Amino acid sequence: MPTLEKINSNDFINLEDQFGAHNYHPLPVVLSKGDGVYVWDVEGKKYFDFLSAYSAVNQGHCHPKIINALVNQAQKLTLTSRAFYNDQLGPYEKYITSYFGFDKVLPMNTGAEAVETAIKICRKWAYEKKGIPEHQAQIVVCENNFHGRTTTIISFSNDENARKNFGPYTEGFIKIPYDNVALFKEVLEAHKNIAGILVEPIQGEAGVYTPSETYLKEIKELCTDYNVLFIADEIQTGIARTGSLLAVCGQCNCDATCERSESTYAKPDILILGKAISGGVYPVSAVLADNAIMNVIKPGQHGSTFGGNPLAAAVATAALQVVEEEKLAQNARKLGKLFRDKMNEYIQNSTIVQLVRGRGLLNAIVINDTEESSTAWDICMKLAQNGLLAKPTHGNIIRFAPPLVMTEDELLECVSIICKTLAEFER
Ligand code: PLP
Repeated sequence: MPTLEKINSNDFINLEDQFGAHNYHPLPVVLSKGDGVYVWDVEGKKYFDFLSAYSAVNQGHCHPKIINALVNQAQKLTLTSRAFYNDQLGPYEKYITSYFGFDKVLPMNTGAEAVETAIKICRKWAYEKKGIPEHQAQIVVCENNFHGRTTTIISFSNDENARKNFGPYTEGFIKIPYDNVALFKEVLEAHKNIAGILVEPIQGEAGVYTPSETYLKEIKELCTDYNVLFIADEIQTGIARTGSLLAVCGQCNCDATCERSESTYAKPDILILGKAISGGVYPVSAVLADNAIMNVIKPGQHGSTFGGNPLAAAVATAALQVVEEEKLAQNARKLGKLFRDKMNEYIQNSTIVQLVRGRGLLNAIVINDTEESSTAWDICMKLAQNGLLAKPTHGNIIRFAPPLVMTEDELLECVSIICKTLAEFER
């Protein structure tokens, strides 16, 4: 075994292979440094990051303002547990609730925990406020959803790889096709015990499926009519990724500073955030709701040792400030359009790429091959060789989600790397 200073990419990969559980299938690239839109591997090769840790690093790698907040707070106080108050949490809670326009926040750490939290709040609200008989509450979810990896969440996944042999599964979920308002209405008519609907405003993991323009607004209206909670999972789509602060604000294109217009904004009853809420610097997630809903949670009924810790509060505050100060929503909107325009130009003469879809800087191309083929993986390997990191989601879809701090020149350079690489695969 070589000494630690001398070991190369293969040695690091072998260490993970030997000592780590095999629950991921990474591209064989070993990264040791990141700055803005770039990452470097242990051999010193520089890449554009076109995944942003699944949209967690929206503010760019190691953003100085966020890292400063982390270091300053880490030198003062990191964790108190919620047995005591701390001087960071209250100001952060005030900041994030006014930032997103809700009365209250419940802080957690990972995305899946926040989804679990939202499910618990929704059920409790259903029993205590809506009057659904105990244990009868149903939550509507969408086919091809991705909300995380806990036992309850995988219970309503239809990805067999994520589910198989992890049963018995949690009950209380009704699955309907995504982007189908009529079927949601049918479910509301047929079942009296619907507590909520859990939706991704754009299905990221499924392959960046963007619903019709009016989908979320119509879902929200039905929720209001039937006294059902509209729960938006914006863990991947939120924090400026899709060209507006939240994807549910899609049509009004709002950023962090604008007044949201109720006519276009499908305000969720429960909003779930994670990933970029900390700029990818620390695991921070959050569930936001107004008092009428959030107040069903009383002391001792939910929590987490790390949820709402001072380090998380300081980091998330800085990360959200960066989104506003650097106008990341506006940049994502502008560069996203440019990206799709350029890809559409390429696709006109392509046999290997079928289409590009997405919103803001959350986009995907669909490769003209089967889900079982290795073409998308092979293209990603070639992209890496050519200096750009992206990852297939499913066998024939490649997601493109760079940090939102990218400049127009950098984006154009990336487009040229992508087109040059794709050209090598044309038949
Ligand atoms: N919800 C959505 C929409 C996601 O994209 C993800 C992660 O990719 C999650 C939930 C789970 O988040 P985490 O991996 O932090 O648990």
